[in-house]
Amino acid sequence: MTPGELYIDGAFHAAKSGERRDVVNPANGQVIATVAEAGPEDVDAAVAAARRAFDEGTWPQLSGRERGAVLLKAAALFEQHREELAQLESLDTGKPITFARMIDLGDTIDHFTYYAGLADTIQGATRSIRRPGLAYTRREPIGVVAAITPFNFPLILSSSKLAPALAAGNTVVHKPAEDTPLSALRVAELLTEAGLPEGVLNVITGGAATGAALTEHPGVDKVAFTGSTRVGSAIAASAAATVKQTTLELGGKSAHLIFEDADLGPAIEAAVGGFVFNTGQFCMGGTRLLVHRTHYDTVLGAVAEAATHVPVGNPQEPSTVVGPMAGLRHLENVERYIGLGEARVVAGGRRLDIDGGYFYAPTVLADVDNGARVVQEEVFGPVLVVQPFDTEDEAVALANSTPYGLAAGLHTRDVARAHRVAAKLRAGIVWVNSWAVLDAALPFGGYGRSGYGRENGPEGLDGYLQTKSVFIPTA
Ligand code: NAD
Repeated sequence: MTPGELYIDGAFHAAKSGERRDVVNPANGQVIATVAEAGPEDVDAAVAAARRAFDEGTWPQLSGRERGAVLLKAAALFEQHREELAQLESLDTGKPITFARMIDLGDTIDHFTYYAGLADTIQGATRSIRRPGLAYTRREPIGVVAAITPFNFPLILSSSKLAPALAAGNTVVHKPAEDTPLSALRVAELLTEAGLPEGVLNVITGGAATGAALTEHPGVDKVAFTGSTRVGSAIAASAAATVKQTTLELGGKSAHLIFEDADLGPAIEAAVGGFVFNTGQFCMGGTRLLVHRTHYDTVLGAVAEAATHVPVGNPQEPSTVVGPMAGLRHLENVERYIGLGEARVVAGGRRLDIDGGYFYAPTVLADVDNGARVVQEEVFGPVLVVQPFDTEDEAVALANSTPYGLAAGLHTRDVARAHRVAAKLRAGIVWVNSWAVLDAALPFGGYGRSGYGRENGPEGLDGYLQTKSVFIPTA
């Protein structure tokens, strides 16, 4: 496969750095493509193109409705290329093709459709002030946005930045993750086909050094970052030097709570789906399962049994539910955590030898101290820690006991408890008797070290706008 090089100013260009990086299919360890590794000169070129496109003003000065029309056309093109993009995403990340078609492409199309509609709602307001005259606010784009994304949901996470950033009239330099850069390059081409003017979206590939050169670049006005808490924190520190705006969507260690009055069948199903989905490489994965002591043994046995029977294997098989880890380094990271020996392994706990790929068995851990690293840190693999609790207060305290606060789930038949506990959980999104319900219209983001700022919904658009007040005296 020969993907395009760096996408700058509406066309592919060879990288000035002359460096390249292999892209590997994690299902079999084979190299499927090489992509350019952008160096500082390439970052300069991409930022300059985005700056020019912003300052010349064609895109920011279009009406919201005109920008929305381009985004809507892009959504239609993604729909037309759904199979091609799903295949690319599955090959690159190892995610099962069934999920790539349905969820990754479904959400991507939804993001562009949703923000196409919202583009036309961007408006200021007149204000009544004490001086005679006309006072009003304008909602303006911020400028050049650096959009940096992680490896686990390349299309969804880039679209949750690109769609609102473009709807608001910004121009963008997007750097996808080094492990999974392929779909972003194709999306850039399709957006140009949809009518996006040259330079409005630029895509550069590369690793941490490329990302750092981009976030530190003086020509960038805003950094929209999704990734680990470690890197997010470094980006916030470097952005402070030039007072860039940032939004940080970071790591998580989300808890699912099963109360004594829960409907156990659906709760167990949600618990299993919550930790195996995307091979556990899901920032909002329910990686901690807190179970009322009356059901602890039953639930532990049931999730371990289910974990052993989840179909793991070739992502191209329509029946596969769990594919490989997206890269060897991710697999080795999971092995390191399990190797700490902090918990009893009830199911899994080992690599799976399938086609030379990076497979790890869905793993259930029990009998663990709440301070253990597997409870407190993000393992980012198909690993669930199960812990008992006795009271509602204890359940909430355990759920809130990590530095993260991205998502949480709770299962109960008591509606008053559902509202009470949802209010007490420190997390950006709470699912009651359900899990992983995400929607372009529903904002999500972090509490604590899971970051700040919100993506999706009108809140997602706000992150790419700034307010200007104007006053004109009439006397
Ligand atoms: P990562 O932080 O290692 O990398 C993310 C991106 O940042 C990549 O594109 C990488 O090249 C780039 N990068 C690395 N160092 C950089 C630097 N110094 N400056 C600028 N850019 C740099 O994360 P990852 O391993 O790709 O992804 C997994 C992490 O992402 C997990 O922590 C997961 O929870 C998190 N995540 C969060 C959300 C969310 O919405 N909150 C969604 C998905 C993933």
